[in-house]
Amino acid sequence: MTPDELLDALIRLRKAAVGGRRVPHKPLLLLWLCGRYSTTGSSAVTYAEAEEQVSRLINDFGPPVVSAAAQRQRAAMPFVHLERTLWDLKDGEGHPIGPDAPERGKWLRDRGAHGQLHPEVELLLSDPGTLISAVRLLLDQHFTPSLEALICSGAGLDLAGLEESAHPVVPPKPKRPRRSGFAEEVLRAYAFACAMCGYDGALARNPVGLEAAHVRWHSQDGPDDVSNALALCALHHALFDLGVLGLTADLRIRVSGLYVARNKAGLAIDALAGHPLAAPRPGKPPVDLTFVTWHDRQVFKDS
Ligand SMILES: [Zn+2]
Repeated sequence: MTPDELLDALIRLRKAAVGGRRVPHKPLLLLWLCGRYSTTGSSAVTYAEAEEQVSRLINDFGPPVVSAAAQRQRAAMPFVHLERTLWDLKDGEGHPIGPDAPERGKWLRDRGAHGQLHPEVELLLSDPGTLISAVRLLLDQHFTPSLEALICSGAGLDLAGLEESAHPVVPPKPKRPRRSGFAEEVLRAYAFACAMCGYDGALARNPVGLEAAHVRWHSQDGPDDVSNALALCALHHALFDLGVLGLTADLRIRVSGLYVARNKAGLAIDALAGHPLAAPRPGKPPVDLTFVTWHDRQVFKDS
């Protein structure tokens, strides 16, 4: 296997999307395995060891599921189904477990299931440039930029440190470049103020802490249009991408029931619930409901 063949195999994971629902389970398991490999020198792991941390990554950065039982064993799906071209899964006696095994945590734990990336994949990832390219590709294809640092931290990956010490073997190449001028157009449409809280800070004449947020993520085929965007302050952008904040069909703010805070600044998020979003300036389209629906199904942490 060459570095290009490895990256091609990672690109093909994206085709696993089912019925328009994003499926970041395998990418999150792979990012976690990359983190484990880069810190311990091996990706070998039992399901019992991986279950809690990988399930937490999928719960934090994947589409929401309500049932607590499902949340606890979300690692089972990618553990069983990750392509056998990349990894081996065996039971406690060393017999292979096929991709038709049940996606159940107890089943995997009872059999002592353990997996490891193929030796040739590990060898490729031992080159920091290939590792950076693989991590970048998984992040670019499945997530949105404001989540990258959080995902890397959850996966035990020091991407910034790696990028200081090496260059990617393949220059990062987004599948679809962002339209230039998009951010400026969105901030202008919302009069350089957060559509949720009205924050409009500037340093001299430059807006600061204010960002153009996609409602349907760019990596998930969300267009670079004002009708798929909001001007948000950095805090509300991060919470919107994490699914703490969401939108109702009549463009009011929702706050996840899973959000907790103790002090006044933290509780100010709860106080946003039910407030209408600021409307864009005349002539600019409000957020299109199809994108609100996408965010509601795929990102918002309903409870
Ligand atoms: Zn704000």
